[in-house]
Amino acid sequence: MKKYFQPEIETASLEDMRALQNEKLVKQVKHVYENVEYYRNLMDEKGVKPEDIKGVEDLHKLPFLTKADLREAYPYGLLATDLKNCVRIQSTSGTTGKRVVAFYTQGDVDLWEDCCARAITAVGGTNEDVCQVAYGYGLFTGGAGMNGGSHKVGCLTLPMSSGNTERQIQFMRDLHATILCCTPSYAAYIGESIKDMGVKPEDLDLKAGIFGAEPWTEEMRRDIEKSLGLKAYDIYGLTETSGPGVAFECEAQKGMHINEDHFYAEIIDPETGEVLPEGSKGELVFTSLDKEAFPLLRYRTRDICVLSREKCSCGRTLIKMSKPMGRSDDMLIIRGVNVFPSQIETVLIKEGYSSNYLIEVDRENNTDTLDVYVELNPEQFSDTVKSLTAMEKALANAMKIMLGINPKVHLVAPKTITRSEGKAVRVIDKRKLHD
Ligand code: ADP
Ligand code: ZN
Repeated sequence: MKKYFQPEIETASLEDMRALQNEKLVKQVKHVYENVEYYRNLMDEKGVKPEDIKGVEDLHKLPFLTKADLREAYPYGLLATDLKNCVRIQSTSGTTGKRVVAFYTQGDVDLWEDCCARAITAVGGTNEDVCQVAYGYGLFTGGAGMNGGSHKVGCLTLPMSSGNTERQIQFMRDLHATILCCTPSYAAYIGESIKDMGVKPEDLDLKAGIFGAEPWTEEMRRDIEKSLGLKAYDIYGLTETSGPGVAFECEAQKGMHINEDHFYAEIIDPETGEVLPEGSKGELVFTSLDKEAFPLLRYRTRDICVLSREKCSCGRTLIKMSKPMGRSDDMLIIRGVNVFPSQIETVLIKEGYSSNYLIEVDRENNTDTLDVYVELNPEQFSDTVKSLTAMEKALANAMKIMLGINPKVHLVAPKTITRSEGKAVRVIDKRKLHD
């Protein structure tokens, strides 16, 4: 039997979903216009009034919000309700710069936890599960969101937070955790660690993992599934819209269903801002349809992906987004050439290397330098027949073809690149230190 947390929403017809979205949007635009001076000014500048927005068809008339707006309006400039109605503050991880803060009423927390509960239910979670939450707790949204979702589903919740990996594994075994929630890089690290501790995946009771908050490849999914003996599912979210659970993967493991009764998604051309038709690749933009305290309209996520309404085998009708593989602002400009870390990762996977790598960019004598440190896996390391220098040269060549510039590749011993307990840090741009 199929299980849904909220079937009336998750399997609604497109017509019913549209009616719900339109009704919520009209109210939301009015709420924001009346209560958020910052956005009212943006609308006035564009000559748009709340009455002009009669449904999602009219959304393109509204101005965008960007991370720069959030930083400018920090901390209270986009708050749409009295602070005394708020019960929570969370903050971004600051991956790409100054952190921003988001506010939640109790209603906003409930809505968010419902989204996370849908995600847990979609991977088969019920009140018979033990859900180990190994995302960081605190200002980061990962721990709080999944903790709340786990409670709503009725799972026995293990609020471990990230880190202390040995204890993590001991509790996982002793308390029979069946669902693990953490970043994919931490899941990979836990997978390596159980092996080092002599624990086999069969010694664990894990059946599903809900891994998100950063990009990860299908290759990583397979590795994690093998090392932990579970099925690995993706989950997506951002602090600006609430946190994890904005979109979640189902049993099909092929794209994430967006909780579109709360978050309306558009794909735009990042250069022109023009809305692109379904199926196009572009920047994901979210409009929060019913959040009270921090309701962002047309927020540009900078995440690049594709939307699809193709029928899903799980029975959910919620629109799906593809895995976002990197952000538009991940781009490094090295010697005038645009380089995305995800391109380097693609080459590594293709050439049979691990995804434990570190990119270091610096400037010497006014020229940018690009160094890529790549960890060898134990088999490659013990293969003394092949010379390291030749391997480094071959890999640098493969990267040059992909990137258009010559990197310096350094192959390093297994387990020498620092593992992450949260979001992985893959790029160190030392040029910023000199500026
Ligand atoms: P920060 O922007 O500082 O990292 P957040 O912790 O709010 O702050 O992270 C949100 C961002 O994390 C998203 O915009 C996206 O780039 C990334 N992200 C979240 N979930 C995923 C996922 N499943 N796949 C790829 N990227 C993700
Ligand atoms: Zn599905």
